[in-house]
Amino acid sequence: MREYKIVVLGSGGVGKSCLTVQFVQGIYVETYDPTIEDSYRKQIEIDDKVIDLEILDTAGVQQFTAMRELYIKSGKGFLLVYSVDDPNSLKELERIREQVLRIKDNSNMPIVLVGNKSDLVETRKLTPQDGIEKAANWNCSFYETSALNKSNVDNVFVNVVEQIIRREETKTN
Ligand code: GDP
Ligand code: MG
Repeated sequence: MREYKIVVLGSGGVGKSCLTVQFVQGIYVETYDPTIEDSYRKQIEIDDKVIDLEILDTAGVQQFTAMRELYIKSGKGFLLVYSVDDPNSLKELERIREQVLRIKDNSNMPIVLVGNKSDLVETRKLTPQDGIEKAANWNCSFYETSALNKSNVDNVFVNVVEQIIRREETKTN
């Protein structure tokens, strides 16, 4: 049995909880307590392999709590989430990513950059290209998602798990 911890990080309000709950429970929760930091379990199957995921939906980015440091230490994959209507939330991920790499003491971690709220048309301020360029810089995957429309939500979790599997396979070979 494979068990992986995935950590969902990003500024407040970008949709970390909505994405996590949409993935785990298949529902869109319009308002979710922004202060709740909680972990969820979900079993998925990739290439006939059954994988147990433990997903930590983090809250608050100003201070990394001791609990979060522990989670990051044991985290195998990371979703770095911003919102396409909030350029600051993308900027904020630079700092968050650096902290992850520092805590993991590794510059090459399974990471997916996630531009959430892709359904927003009027208030969108970042283009898909902005995300593509940042991901190229960081050498990570990138998806735009909508927790609201359930667009690409499964794909970001599957992608990070595929990265983890690939990484483990190249290590043991
Ligand atoms: P968190 O602080 O990162 O956990 O953000 P939440 O998941 O609580 O989401 C904050 C708010 O953004 C929610 O109350 C939703 O109204 C909104 N939201 C989240 N995901 C989406 C999305 O995909 N599209 C749109 N339009 N709004 C979203
Ligand atoms: Mg939240």
